[in-house]
Amino acid sequence: MTTPTRNTFDVAGRGILITGASQGLGANFARTLAAHGAKLVLAARQVSKLEALQAEIEAAGGSAATVAMDVTSGAAAIDAAIAETAEKLGGRIDVLINNAGIAVSKPFLKLTEEDWDATVDTNLKGAFLVAQAVAKRMVETGGGSIVNIASVLGTEVMGNLVPYCASKAGVNHMTRAMALELARYNIRVNAIAPGYIETDINASFFETEGGQKLLRKVAQRKLGAAVDLDGALLLLSSDASAFMTGSVVTVDGGFGLA
Ligand code: NDP
Repeated sequence: MTTPTRNTFDVAGRGILITGASQGLGANFARTLAAHGAKLVLAARQVSKLEALQAEIEAAGGSAATVAMDVTSGAAAIDAAIAETAEKLGGRIDVLINNAGIAVSKPFLKLTEEDWDATVDTNLKGAFLVAQAVAKRMVETGGGSIVNIASVLGTEVMGNLVPYCASKAGVNHMTRAMALELARYNIRVNAIAPGYIETDINASFFETEGGQKLLRKVAQRKLGAAVDLDGALLLLSSDASAFMTGSVVTVDGGFGLA
């Protein structure tokens, strides 16, 4: 019997763009993929943070370049950033980790039009524009894998986050609709839906009474760590997921089960 070799978790040598790589989950995705031998482009608005991460990755023997990118800057600027990305990766982008995102936390009755626009422009329109610009290149280079970072709040809800919940529900459905259209070009489109993952931004919230109440809804009764997403990340970035497209992989410790 021959050993199957196609469906492995290998990402060595793959050209991977990560948006929102300057901190939090995106920076962890970068560390993990670099440690597994991928060639990275790190994108976000805060270039000094990207450069610090690039230096850290290179010092550990990995490969990373940086590109300044604001996902709310419109199609022309995003196309230019994607062209720069492709050039830095030697012509092809094999994988996109479409991660840049924001959350505005306010009661529904106090939300402004600007709050709505900022959230949806970043999380949904921004994800669309980046994915489309990358997909156009993947069509030319023979395919690839697009991984949208959604959220359990694309299906579950939480107070004070109406624009966020709506935008992430949009990301889930966009993932499936894109997968349908792009399969013929050998482009797979999947999403990771993280539950509550501890990052610098939210750590103090989970010490509050409201945070503790939310934790009681998680079957495993704990927050995730950024590294808990690594399995799904390597799965969807590699040929291990060759027969997966349109899937939303939830990594949430059993949120909503308890
Ligand atoms: P952070 O706030 O720590 O990081 C967000 C990243 O997105 C930053 O690198 C930021 O970079 C970037 N970003 C924000 N706006 C823009 C923009 N306009 N253009 C380009 N980059 C932008 O958040 P997390 O790491 O926690 O979240 C990352 C993703 O994971 C988001 O999509 C979030 O919704 C999702 N998620 C997070 C969960 C969690 O528990 N942490 C749970 C579920 C989903 P810069 O400011 O330099 O531009």
